[in-house]
Amino acid sequence: MKVYISADIEGVTGVTHWDETEKPEADHKEFAHQMTLEVKAACEGAINAGVDEIWIKDAHDSGRNIDHNLLPKNTKLIRGWSGHMYSMVQELDETFDALIFIGYHSAGGTNTNPLSHTMNTSIDYIKLNGEYLSEFLLHSYIATSLKVPVVFLSGDLGLCDEVKNHNRNIVTIPVKEGSGDSTINIHPQLALELIKDGVEESLKKDFSQYEIELPKEFELEIKYYKHSETLKAMNYKGVEMIDSKRISFKTKDLIEVVRAIRFLL
Ligand SMILES: [Zn+2]
Repeated sequence: MKVYISADIEGVTGVTHWDETEKPEADHKEFAHQMTLEVKAACEGAINAGVDEIWIKDAHDSGRNIDHNLLPKNTKLIRGWSGHMYSMVQELDETFDALIFIGYHSAGGTNTNPLSHTMNTSIDYIKLNGEYLSEFLLHSYIATSLKVPVVFLSGDLGLCDEVKNHNRNIVTIPVKEGSGDSTINIHPQLALELIKDGVEESLKKDFSQYEIELPKEFELEIKYYKHSETLKAMNYKGVEMIDSKRISFKTKDLIEVVRAIRFLL
């Protein structure tokens, strides 16, 4: 079995402030280490379930947070960014058996993580068909289009609730809960145990129960902070202005949604 792990940091246990997520800051090291350990726990759970090949995308900021030396030898780590529109699931294709998300966080516009955002902190939010779009959902739709099932997610409670709305069978481990600019966290070592066991459990289930339904039509809405960003976005084919800071883009093709997000942020 071959699995893909996409790892972010804003949904890792303890992470509360941007200083803890940015590589040049002194606070980053401790939380990048916990991010590594949560990915390691996921790898161990996967190996217990019979996985022999694991690809990992370090999908936060610089893409250079995870310490590969601490991970099992049967892992390949994707560092940095290629520019491909699959972004946080770069290199994912039909040869993978399952997709796992570690350290994922609530969408921009929501109040369930002090660091809520979607793809980019220089926009207010992205909505898809009227709902705040999370990085989880965007990349799950990409995986669904490639027929790769999403089996597991760890992150904040708000996002775990969203995952259950799309498919109750996906195994979720909420390691923290956001309240304003604060977080309520479980113990970092307990998080590792729960992630390891949860990933193993998810990979031992029947994969046919993990299906996520793809919408037939997509209406994208992006809200910028600056009205000049709206004018810039108007150059993209098919984009319409809603008001000075919001644009919309409609399509029936998921890949056009993914492409638009790549170029409109
Ligand atoms: Zn991130």
